[in-house]
Amino acid sequence: MKHDLSSTPARGHVTLVGAGPGDPELLTIKALKAIQSATVVMVDDLVNEAIVAFASPSARIVYVGKRGGCKSTPQSFIEKLMVTAALEGENVVRLKGGDPFVFGRGGEELEALHAAGVRVTVINGITAGLAAVSSLGVPLTHREYAHGVVFVTGHAKPGSMGTDWRALATTARQAKLTLVIYMGVSGAATIQRELMHGLHADTPVAIIQNATLPQQRHAVCTLSELHSTIEREQLCSPSVIVVGDVLQGLLAAGLEVDSTPAYARTA
Ligand code: SAH
Repeated sequence: MKHDLSSTPARGHVTLVGAGPGDPELLTIKALKAIQSATVVMVDDLVNEAIVAFASPSARIVYVGKRGGCKSTPQSFIEKLMVTAALEGENVVRLKGGDPFVFGRGGEELEALHAAGVRVTVINGITAGLAAVSSLGVPLTHREYAHGVVFVTGHAKPGSMGTDWRALATTARQAKLTLVIYMGVSGAATIQRELMHGLHADTPVAIIQNATLPQQRHAVCTLSELHSTIEREQLCSPSVIVVGDVLQGLLAAGLEVDSTPAYARTA
């Protein structure tokens, strides 16, 4: 990965913008301004249409995610589109769910843009894991229960080794870490089985689907019940799975399944 391009004259400019977890009010002011001034907006899956609507009526909106069950646009094609538009002098915003650099391949896009000599600005967004846990009224860290957080993907690049869940579980128990698992729902049976090699079966777990959106749902259970709870409650993507003792209070309170959206509860 090479980021020092001082010898390459920059041509064109792309802003990678984090759209946050869903609720449009969770956008940063910087993100809003960038979206409003863009002439081309390239939109990922999982970006709320209400956020895309902030774009100028004259802006060209390009959807590049997998919508309606279609296969997503190949990554290399998205990168080519961005480079071409930037070199044509367009004000390009690449709108990505959550934070552009937490999963979602923002790092690869940055590399491709730099390689083409295109200047890149990044505007952070609230990542789904952060918002999902906060929507339950639970902290990610706590001086007594959690000394750190791990954001980890449950879905590694096809053909790669994938996460060593056993090692992670052992470290999480010894170092008191909260695990925040993205893209983990379809692999939950494996994740549960492997994590139980290092974490207690009764470690609290939460599954939060569509965090911060009106259709948010979540369930709280123990690690040994993770997969069966997902099946029973038919929780599906996009969901974040959180594992750790910071959820102890929620589990004890018996808030096991709740389909009331967070915003409605606090209103
Ligand atoms: N860059 C994004 C993550 C992209 S990977 C971010 O920072 O949030 C896509 C995964 O993010 C989903 O499979 C899911 O695990 C998680 N995710 C995104 N939006 C979510 C939401 N509103 N609620 C729960 N999980 C979400």
